[in-house]
Amino acid sequence: MSKRKLLVILVLLLAASGLFFLLRRGGTGTAWNVLIITLDTTRADHIGAYGYKTAQTPNIDLLASQGIRFDNGYAPVPLTLPSHSALFTGRYPIANNVRNNGSYFLPENEVTLAEVLKDRGYDTRAVISSFVLLSKFGVNQGFSLYDDSLDTHEMIRNYKSEIPAELVHEKFSAWLGQNNKPFFYWLHFYDPHTPYRPPLEFAKRFPQGSKGLYDGEIAYTDVWVGRVIEDLRRRGLLEHTLVIIAGDHGEAFGEHVEQGHGIFCYEEALRVPLIFYAPKLFGKARTAAARVGLVDVMPTVLDLFGFEIPRAVQGRSFRSLLKGGSEKEERTFYFESLYGREEMNWAPLTGLLHRNYKYISLPDPELYDLDADRSEKQNLLLRKNIVARDMDKRLAKFIVDHSQSSGETRRELSAGDKEQLQALGYISAFSSQAAAALDPKQGVLIDARLKEISQLLSQKKTAAAESGLLQLLAENPGLKMPHVFNLQYKIYMSKRNFNAALNILKQAIDTFPDVENFKQTLALSLFDMKIYDKAEKRCREILDKNPRNTRATILLGEIREKQNRPAAAAEYFAQALGIEPQNVSLRIKYAELLITIKKYEQAVEAYNQLLENEEASGQPELLLKVALLNTRYGSLADAEQMLARAAAIKPEGKFFFNYALVLARNGKLEQALANMET
Ligand SMILES: [Zn+2]
Repeated sequence: MSKRKLLVILVLLLAASGLFFLLRRGGTGTAWNVLIITLDTTRADHIGAYGYKTAQTPNIDLLASQGIRFDNGYAPVPLTLPSHSALFTGRYPIANNVRNNGSYFLPENEVTLAEVLKDRGYDTRAVISSFVLLSKFGVNQGFSLYDDSLDTHEMIRNYKSEIPAELVHEKFSAWLGQNNKPFFYWLHFYDPHTPYRPPLEFAKRFPQGSKGLYDGEIAYTDVWVGRVIEDLRRRGLLEHTLVIIAGDHGEAFGEHVEQGHGIFCYEEALRVPLIFYAPKLFGKARTAAARVGLVDVMPTVLDLFGFEIPRAVQGRSFRSLLKGGSEKEERTFYFESLYGREEMNWAPLTGLLHRNYKYISLPDPELYDLDADRSEKQNLLLRKNIVARDMDKRLAKFIVDHSQSSGETRRELSAGDKEQLQALGYISAFSSQAAAALDPKQGVLIDARLKEISQLLSQKKTAAAESGLLQLLAENPGLKMPHVFNLQYKIYMSKRNFNAALNILKQAIDTFPDVENFKQTLALSLFDMKIYDKAEKRCREILDKNPRNTRATILLGEIREKQNRPAAAAEYFAQALGIEPQNVSLRIKYAELLITIKKYEQAVEAYNQLLENEEASGQPELLLKVALLNTRYGSLADAEQMLARAAAIKPEGKFFFNYALVLARNGKLEQALANMET
């Protein structure tokens, strides 16, 4: 047998025994951990490592200077849920069908990075810090622990709920070291998102104004990124942890009129920080100028550790770039925002990055040469019309090739493709249909006026608001935007013209049958007007289309309560809790209702679950109540623990007294006596 043959056999044996895989992972046999930190709303050019002079991001900068910094990392969509969905599935929004926040959820059949790594024996955990990423939206797939309890100071949670970076770090820090296998952890920091409210000491470091406050939020977040890294180092874990820092999308400060993010796909919205840190894996620190996408992160991680990349993944591994090589293939990157179409009824925005060009398909299309004009001020559409038309064709083909239902690549677009393209949100800028929809570039200007009108309404200047709206409609005949209906509804409500308000809602539903909000508002209004049968009918319509709409389910429960059918109400609340387990106020409502209908065992169970919530378990009165229920209908051991906690938080007589009683019932007489004495 030749030496070469022997070597091949040896390699095969090693591979079969799994040793080969270990060797690939670290060279030493130590398995690698993976930590992904996503920085919400963080644009690349506001980070020190990316050349922002006034940035105070020493911790992120240090990781960048010792790791691999991608200078051209792109989000495929400027919205939190779709962007994270693309990051974790390696698939574009057109494929995984998460196109907007709120009304979408990541389908079960999508395969996430966490699912793959969990199958490979990883401990998978996540802390998220915003309502937008609650488990009910589906990005929790594959995480054994998905901490989305956004408990801060408020018990009422809404779409504005968030937790600060300090709390994210605290949760992470509590797990660290609990794992007996390699981990895959994801930390999501939401602070740079609006509202910009950094702690005062961070706000003071930057010029006044929204940009300064935004930079303050980033500086504050950076401190906690640093603490996370320090924790890993202190426990000796950093050396074998691949740390990935990524922004989910950027933020605009009026560069192209927009403030915030979601509408446009200019560089300030799509270009995000992307840093891979693992000196033992990558060797020398470097910056990579090649354009990469968030969709590439999942396949890259799998490729690095020798795991198979699911066939449906659309991103590509950029492993060679991490190791100082180059990519052979020319890449094209798709991006989109359907926010304008879905929220405003404007034209959908889709586009491509290809070579030095960015093409944005809209009724008034745009072409930019990013090499020459990074701030996208010179629309080259007319000057480079041939390039623009070519990009438009590439875009249509890209969408067809990458959308869910089509696997194979085709050369020509069929009539069926064209229909499918429209359904996916693409209308060629060079077709007659494009002109029918409002370009978001005009839309934002109208939207700004609608915001002023809304402001007037909140100041109770109803007459001024009404005349402002009439004037806007006179200037823009045929204007159909959900916000217009919203404002008309609010104006009628503040004039106490309820019938007109209801009629406007019905018109809005006819005009925008896919907008859930109007149906919800109508159902709530009917409920408030005590027209329960009609309210119920509207709820059912919502749930027929979207069974995960918890607001409609909860409202059905409330209707049953009004109809004196508490048992039926409890069933609806239980159903909603199944989808939204972290909804504290709903759980309280549910538990109280169970007591009313004398289902004590179930009530105890509901209350016990409630106490798993950090905020709730810090309330001595609630602990006492649940403990007493437990002594009668639940577990004495649980009651003992709850009362110990209550007495520790609030060392008052009644807590000690009840604690002592339960200790005595549990046969711990000496301890009970000791407590009686205090
Ligand atoms: Zn976001």
